[in-house]
Amino acid sequence: MRLLLVEDDPMIGESLREALRRQGFAADWVRDGQAADAALSSERFDAVLLDLGLPRRGGLDVLKSLRARGDATPVLVMTARDALTDKVAGLDAGADDYLVKPFELDELLARLRAVTRRHGGRADTALAVADLRLDPATREVTRAGRPVLLSAREFALLQALLERPGAIVSRAQLEDRLYGWGEELESNAISVYMHQLRKKLGADLLHTVRGLGYYAGPEK
Ligand code: CA
Repeated sequence: MRLLLVEDDPMIGESLREALRRQGFAADWVRDGQAADAALSSERFDAVLLDLGLPRRGGLDVLKSLRARGDATPVLVMTARDALTDKVAGLDAGADDYLVKPFELDELLARLRAVTRRHGGRADTALAVADLRLDPATREVTRAGRPVLLSAREFALLQALLERPGAIVSRAQLEDRLYGWGEELESNAISVYMHQLRKKLGADLLHTVRGLGYYAGPEK
């Protein structure tokens, strides 16, 4: 999942980005409202973590512009403790949910799952094809009921494929999901992760379509 983190506090921003990357998210970090506008106008994100008090352009204005463009990307607003007016204003401007600082990483992850799930219109949290199952909430993967241990990046790659079973996802789309800006990326990284996934899960449900990309599901 690819996230845009908008936060001007260097300590909060740095620690959030690192924590999110360790969880297997591709997290891009911008530090002011104008940079957020530019990123949101030019790139697609699965969700936005938005601070409201920002230099150059306030978070509420960034959010209003996003919605005015008809962009429904899920937005989680981060507000200061007891700033009730901020919460209300954020929700009125089109935020999907809010977090009160300081918050635990677990709470952030749970709310992220909730807003992206609602956005995707999925009632069930688990993703599955055939007997392969991935649960984003518990981060458990099973094949034929047996647990399989995946690295954070392997998990993120499998999740991207299982969100649209049978649909071909290009290498570039997968790289966008797995890596933030400026992260070092070997040109064959995705095929290496695919190789590892096939070794752990079996090769029958994970397919390469030469020149186009990858898909999960029964072979077509
Ligand atoms: Ca701030």
